[in-house]
Amino acid sequence: KRVPLLAGNWKMNLDHLQAIAFVQKLAWTLKDADHDVADAEVAVFPPFTDLRSVQTLVAADKLPIAYGAQDLSAQDSGAFTGEISGSFLAQLDCTYVIIGHSERRTLHAEDDAQVKAKTAAAVKHGLVPVICVGETAEDLAEQGPSAVPVAQLTTALEGLDSSADIVVAYEPVWAIGSGQAATPDQAEQVAAALREVIRSVLGEDAAARTRILYGGSVKSSNIAGFMREPNVDGALIGGASLDVAEFSSIVRFQK
Ligand code: 13P
Repeated sequence: KRVPLLAGNWKMNLDHLQAIAFVQKLAWTLKDADHDVADAEVAVFPPFTDLRSVQTLVAADKLPIAYGAQDLSAQDSGAFTGEISGSFLAQLDCTYVIIGHSERRTLHAEDDAQVKAKTAAAVKHGLVPVICVGETAEDLAEQGPSAVPVAQLTTALEGLDSSADIVVAYEPVWAIGSGQAATPDQAEQVAAALREVIRSVLGEDAAARTRILYGGSVKSSNIAGFMREPNVDGALIGGASLDVAEFSSIVRFQK
């Protein structure tokens, strides 16, 4: 059985002081609601500069909140100005790292080869990569919903060990920040195709245990529909993850 993962991608929002206040409030809200992380795991993805503060808070209060970074370098160390090594993230007890978010692909020209190299780097440093794939509106019109995400994931997984712990996030670019979420049916169709990719590249075990998330305009009013789908194991939430009340009601989705 796959434990659902509800993950908040803060993007470039909340500085380290705001992060501390947010994570404290989130923990209180989940505790008040008797939230059990065995029912749904909660993770946040703050900016790099917040991670040390989040680590300190989560460790001191043993909060049931996982965290990770929004990107990492494919390199381990060296003359790479502005880059962050996976080993640094591992030392901050990050569980996860987002890789290949569409904003990185578009604004920083990250291609599938870089996403593959970063995925390998994450696994090497003991981090769980949250590999983001998704088609643009143009891709959707020209190639249908699954072709681009399937090709992106196929490359990202090349060369990985079948025991690698990974998460896949299907985020149609046209649904990100647009208020226009995919339908649960659309998300399920692509998630099923992505699970086939995992099966053919990494094998049956990996396909059975890997969580596939949907992302793109998820909110408390539409989360339940996605969570009912057999191949959707959670969500990657942007805008709606920045409000404690809204994010915690997403986490406590009702099937
Ligand atoms: P929104 O939830 O704001 O559409 O963003 C989705 C996203 O990009 C999460 O990584």
